[in-house]
Amino acid sequence: MSRSVLITGASRGIGRESAKLFAQNGWKVAVNYCSSERQALELVKELSDMGSEAIAVQGDVSDRSQVTAMAASLLKDFGELDVLVNNAGIAQQKLFTDITPNDWDRMFDINIKGMFHCCQCFLPQMIRRQSGKIINLSSIWGLVGSSCEVHYSAAKAAVIGFTKALAKEVGPSGIQVNCVAPGVITTEMNAALDADSLNALKEETPLGILGTPQDIAQAIYFLAESGSDFITGQVLSPNGGFVI
Ligand code: NAP
Repeated sequence: MSRSVLITGASRGIGRESAKLFAQNGWKVAVNYCSSERQALELVKELSDMGSEAIAVQGDVSDRSQVTAMAASLLKDFGELDVLVNNAGIAQQKLFTDITPNDWDRMFDINIKGMFHCCQCFLPQMIRRQSGKIINLSSIWGLVGSSCEVHYSAAKAAVIGFTKALAKEVGPSGIQVNCVAPGVITTEMNAALDADSLNALKEETPLGILGTPQDIAQAIYFLAESGSDFITGQVLSPNGGFVI
């Protein structure tokens, strides 16, 4: 029987490429999106054309009632969920002194509280089955901090603490919880960076290149597969050597 995965924020970028990789490998894929309905539906059609059982599930991960409804509809369709990829996220570049309390709350509501909602809604059926994997998206900025991204860096550092603590708690239930902390990846998230900034980041990267969403999808997929069954509470950081 095909295994099933939910990828939050799969309408674009890293989530979208991850959805394709899971589908190529015969998984049932649930594509979560918040506002990019057209992209999500196009992706589901593409995955279905590839022979995958794919569904789109709308829901703002920062809203508990929407995540609860999403979990109910997904579990009705798929029966159970084997892998949860907490990928939905936002970024923002601002001087620390310009960050408003609303900016701060939104950053934490989506990037870390969303993970809390999704894990609480999908863990009970994993615990019942004594099996499941959770993969959380952090960032190199959660490891080393980024100037003008204090709220983003702090939220992504929180993802690492969350991952390690939850891995300890649910390991005895047969569930692995790991984290992927990408370097700079060419997605819409970095669309605000100008060519000079992107070149500077490239030059700072030992491999001399920026990452692609496909690079990160491969790391996520590795942590979802049975080859990583002995790995839990870890941070895998595909970053071209930017952080060593
Ligand atoms: P992206 O291209 O900007 O896509 C973000 C995705 O998150 C979209 O599918 C978006 O869906 C979804 N999303 C945003 N807010 C949401 C919400 N409240 N509820 C549900 N979905 C929501 O971003 P990306 O570059 O692929 O990043 C994916 C993850 O990797 C993020 O957690 C990010 O922090 C992390 N990351 C990215 C980089 C990078 O350089 N790109 C580096 C390190 C870590 P809608 O369009 O439907 O709103």
